[in-house]
Amino acid sequence: MKPILLTGIRATGLPHIGNYYGSIKPLLTMQDEFRIYQLIADLHAIPHVRDGALLNHHVRSITACYLSCGLDVQQSVLWRQSQIQEMAWVSLILMSLISVDELDAEMKLTANKDIDMLSGIYPVLMAADTLMMGADLVFAGRDHETGLDFVSQLAQRFNSMYGEVLTVPRPYFPDLNHMVRGLDGRKMSKSFNNTISLLDSEDDLYQKIQSISGADEAESLDILTDLRSLTADDHPRAVTTDLKEAKQLLFDELNRELKPIRQKYAEWIGQPDVLDRILQDGADAAREQANKKLGLLMNSVGLFSRTRSK
Ligand code: ADP
Repeated sequence: MKPILLTGIRATGLPHIGNYYGSIKPLLTMQDEFRIYQLIADLHAIPHVRDGALLNHHVRSITACYLSCGLDVQQSVLWRQSQIQEMAWVSLILMSLISVDELDAEMKLTANKDIDMLSGIYPVLMAADTLMMGADLVFAGRDHETGLDFVSQLAQRFNSMYGEVLTVPRPYFPDLNHMVRGLDGRKMSKSFNNTISLLDSEDDLYQKIQSISGADEAESLDILTDLRSLTADDHPRAVTTDLKEAKQLLFDELNRELKPIRQKYAEWIGQPDVLDRILQDGADAAREQANKKLGLLMNSVGLFSRTRSK
């Protein structure tokens, strides 16, 4: 049996090229080595997308994106977080192991008092998703380093109290020197409005690349060079210090890589029933794992459980 590697993406909108180079693409190279559990985190998206129909749409678009990029659902599991309701119980049980101080240190709650409670317990939800699937590895960008450590610590803590019930997952990071930079040079993120979407049209891609600008010309060139270094390197990469030329080269290189994804996406998104079926199959596989683990957890702590273990 292949080790399980779990990872997630929030259903807050279309993936951007930071998600692609930082998470989706590296994941695809690992499909033979690991059984990939790719979660679409719709629960985490509620505070950011206050529109149910739109949130549903995001889930389908993200599903279509992963398939267009090459996720093979014959060997990997792609599922929607809210289809596995066991996760709520696992989260509640895990909360009993965490002090408010600890959560504060993790999430800076005192400094950020307006944060909604769901976002405030982000690390707990991440731990619940990971631990109920019995993941051997948990994968995310370096921006999640402390969160992933927290998940492993929580599993260890549970086991030290109740016996070896949970698999302690090992954090696993992509081989990237730094986070993918956005149009303004900061980390590419939907919250900074500085993204290049995986599905931007050729025109939008061109316009966005034209708008890339750092504090000065040297920084702009630096951002362009960083972004160019990510693109597929089966074509030799021309070197230039001319800003205009660097923008054109980045456009050509990115467009070459993203064009086939865009084309496949147009096919997938036109088949909503197929997308829903794939998510349903993924949820069935994920639920089987979650159910077993929740039964064990409930038994261990002394809660009522239908699936009694010895
Ligand atoms: P979250 O970061 O809260 O999980 P996202 O959906 O934004 O939600 O991210 C999904 C994955 O993409 C994560 O593994 C994250 O580390 C990675 N990622 C996000 N932005 C970037 C970026 N700018 N560069 C590299 N990886 C990124």
